[in-house]
Amino acid sequence: MKVAIYANHRPKTRTVVNKLKHLLKNRNISVITQGRPDVVISVGGDGTILSAFHQFFPYLNHVRFVGVHTGHLGFYTDYREYEMKELVDSLSINSGETVSYPILKIEAYKKNTVHPFMVYHALNESTIRRVVSTFTCNVFIKGNFFEKFRGDGLCISTPSGSTAYNKSLGGAVIHPTVQALQLTEIASLNNSIFRTIGSPMVLSPQEWVEIHLRDPNDIYVSVDNMTMHNTGVTRIKYQISSQKIHFAKYRHMHFWDRVGNSFIYQKKSHED
Ligand code: NAD
Repeated sequence: MKVAIYANHRPKTRTVVNKLKHLLKNRNISVITQGRPDVVISVGGDGTILSAFHQFFPYLNHVRFVGVHTGHLGFYTDYREYEMKELVDSLSINSGETVSYPILKIEAYKKNTVHPFMVYHALNESTIRRVVSTFTCNVFIKGNFFEKFRGDGLCISTPSGSTAYNKSLGGAVIHPTVQALQLTEIASLNNSIFRTIGSPMVLSPQEWVEIHLRDPNDIYVSVDNMTMHNTGVTRIKYQISSQKIHFAKYRHMHFWDRVGNSFIYQKKSHED
C-alpha cells in the first residue's frame, strides 16, 4: 500500500505528521511524495481535505481519503491527532472498505462558445457572485428557463458540502451519500418588481443548473476554497459528476451524530 500525507503548515500538525510517519515506517507502509497513492491521509481540518481533494483529483477513482483533525471536529475528518496508532493499525488491516460521496462538476463557458474554457470539480460547493453591484443572471434547470435572479449571488453545493456555506445560507442539511445538488440564494432581491423562488432547491442527479450572465465583469466564481475573479465567464453549468470521492471506512462517525455534535453542541437525550 502506498500512502501520501497531505498536511497544513501548523506546528501542531507537523508534530502529528512526524509521529504518523514514524508509525507507518514501523509497519513497513511506504509514504510517497510523488505518483499515485492508494490512500491519502489529510492532517489538519476540513480545509486541508478540500485542498487534498484538488491536489489528488487526477487519481480520484483510485484513491481513498482519511482525515485527521488537529483542530476542532471536522466533517471530513474521522481521527483525532492522538489516535494515530489506531489509524495505522486500521491501515495495516486494509479492509479496502469505502464510503463514497457525490461531487459537483462545474463547466464555465465564454460568450458564444460551445466548449468550456474551465472544468472544475467541487467537494463542498461553487458560488457565483458579484460584490460591488447587483448580480443578475438567468437560471435554467435542465435546459428550461426557471427564473431571473437578482441579488448577491448563488451557491450550488454537494450533499457533503450542505453543512458548509450552504447551511449558512439557510440550505437543508443533506446526508452525504444522497445523490443530489442544492441551489441556494445569496441575498436575493425580492420586492414587488423582482421575484425569485426564495427557498433552497434540491435537484436530482439527472438534472443540471445553468447560470447565464448578462455582464461578465466583476464576477467571482468560487470552487471550494479557491476563488477566481474576472475570468470572462458568461455561462456556467453545474451538475453532479459521474465521479465520486472515496473515504476509507476504517472508522466512520454516524453522520447525524456529527451534525449534532457540530451544530447543537449540548446534546440532549431523547428523554429530556
Ligand atoms: P475556512 O477555514 O474559513 O472554513 C470555514 C469553515 O467551514 C471551517 O470551520 C470548516 O471546518 C468548515 N467547513 C468546511 N467544509 C465543511 C463541511 N463540508 N461541513 C461543515 N463545515 C465545513 O475556509 P476553508 O478551509 O478555505 O474552507 C472553505 C470552505 O469554507 C468553503 O468550501 C465554504 O463551504 C466555507 N465557507 C463558509 C462560509 C459561510 O459559512 N458563510 C463562507 C465562505 C466559505
